[in-house]
Amino acid sequence: MRPERLGWGFRLAVLWIVLVVGAALTADLLPLPDHDATLSGEPGTGPAPGHPLGTDGLGRDLLSRTVHGARVSLGVGLGAVLLGLLIGGPLGLLAGYRRGPLDRIVMTANDVLLAFPAMVFALAVVAFAGPSVRNVLIVLGLLGVPAWVRLIRGVTLSYGRREFVTAARALGARGRTVMWREIAPNVVPPALSYAFTLMAVVVIAEGALAFLGLSVQPPTPTWGGMINDGRSTLDTAAHIVVVPSAAMFLTVLALNLVGDRLQELTGHRPGGLEPARPRRRTAPPSAPVVHRDGPLLEVSDLRTAFATPRGPLHAVDGVSFALERGRTLAIVGESGSGKSVLIRSVLGLLPDTAERTGHARLGDRDLTGDTRGVLGTRMAAVFQDPMTALNPVRTIGTQVTEPLRVHLGMTRRRSREEAERLLASVGIPEPRRVLRSYPHQLSGGMRQRITIAMALSCDPEVLFADEPTTALDVTVQKQIMRLLHRQRDERDMAMVLVSHDLSVVADHADEVIVMYAGRAVEYGPTQAVFTAPRMRYTEALLRAVPDLSAPNHTRLAVIDGRPPDLVAPPSGCRFHPRCPFARDRCRSDEPPLTSHHDRSHACWYPAHEPEGAHHGR
Ligand code: SF4
Repeated sequence: MRPERLGWGFRLAVLWIVLVVGAALTADLLPLPDHDATLSGEPGTGPAPGHPLGTDGLGRDLLSRTVHGARVSLGVGLGAVLLGLLIGGPLGLLAGYRRGPLDRIVMTANDVLLAFPAMVFALAVVAFAGPSVRNVLIVLGLLGVPAWVRLIRGVTLSYGRREFVTAARALGARGRTVMWREIAPNVVPPALSYAFTLMAVVVIAEGALAFLGLSVQPPTPTWGGMINDGRSTLDTAAHIVVVPSAAMFLTVLALNLVGDRLQELTGHRPGGLEPARPRRRTAPPSAPVVHRDGPLLEVSDLRTAFATPRGPLHAVDGVSFALERGRTLAIVGESGSGKSVLIRSVLGLLPDTAERTGHARLGDRDLTGDTRGVLGTRMAAVFQDPMTALNPVRTIGTQVTEPLRVHLGMTRRRSREEAERLLASVGIPEPRRVLRSYPHQLSGGMRQRITIAMALSCDPEVLFADEPTTALDVTVQKQIMRLLHRQRDERDMAMVLVSHDLSVVADHADEVIVMYAGRAVEYGPTQAVFTAPRMRYTEALLRAVPDLSAPNHTRLAVIDGRPPDLVAPPSGCRFHPRCPFARDRCRSDEPPLTSHHDRSHACWYPAHEPEGAHHGR
């Protein structure tokens, strides 16, 4: 946060808050008359020597009483905010992170509490329990809990979908670790801004209760009580009301200004998929499984669906593949074709309530139940945006050494040395300095190299790279792809590469799966598929790649129409509404993924007919 972004209003507000808090804390040490000494001056007079803000109706010094009154107002404000945060913070964090039944219970209770008229409730409780600072603080603190729950839950939901959280989970971090180490530190900035705003509300509420005589009792001064004292002499000695009112007004204004400015500077934008709910299986029959000799990673009939208000969205619908050590499998397709959901399904990084069926196996380990113990060690992932794949509030060193200490049991010192070696191996200059940096101090390319180093830290057998170069400029893209390719060869690992860039796939992948509307529509060796595509969608996709050698003003080929609605996909071949070769059969019958030698395709009328194949026309 640069100082010039804060503005003068913010600085003045902070100055006022510091002044009031400082005065309240040191009130007994300041050279002020006793706040309760009656007739220390002429009653009800304005500013005079010895009484810069005048005296009240009993001749007590108004400045002294205002300063001592700040203790109550700010003390209750701070105490109530902390009490609300202490209860609402963990509840919101748990509800937002765990989701499911806990979230529903917490939020239902929260909504009920929010429906209570807060001030009436406070008046009733304080009147019943007796007017005292403690009772006022507890009541106002408890009344703030629902708002805290709502805020912290919202922020947690938002951050829970960020890539650095997924990346942490992909490195094997689970449950409480992710919640407290990855999400909680990011909740602090919005919570801090809200704390100021809420404190302003509490100061006003305490003032209102004091005005009604329901806060701390005389002789301790409070701003609300002072306003109440002066209202009978408003026409003759208005300053008795004006002084505490001005103190309260300026303090509330300053707290709101600071809260609003902090919110602007730390604002977050929720996003991501709707939470999914379990659904009954309604998907069409699965595609046949492709078997190969000795695959390291084997995925069979994988299906993943998310609940939407209109019904289940079939993001991945019966995909199967197998991958051997030392090879790269690319998954290509338009946005929304299910590429990323497919690899997150294999990695076990879906929301708890998403429905996933089918089988996945890594060597001798079944990945169907959960991927604990394998994620971050035998399988690792690199995600699209290095800006969000690293936790912004933790140093690079903390993030890179964590998997080394957690999974490999290294000491702090040893993990630091290993982290330096890892960063150097992915081409980062001055690794020792970089380990002390925060993500925002590094370029996009450097950040992506770091996420790769983190993914490789435990020597995985399979690396999943989800659009690893999309957020980078062209030169850096090539460097990152070369780095991934080199690491794959050096470590003899398998790589699953999700990309929409067909030139990257052509250069780096041995095999390719083409996905359309959640289904694998073509699968085979990259060179063969790209040279002689069979499925009409693959053909159209390849034609849409810009040809840099084409003459100027050559019209770019595009695929007409839009990807289908995955809640209600078209009948028959899902590509038929956009396919210029579609016939009646395409509209009524779904083409199965049929295999011929080392290739498979799902098309009734393929562009290049496999030898000896006959679908019947
Ligand atoms: S099955 Fe028919 S509609 Fe689908 S890609 Fe092939 S030709 Fe086109």
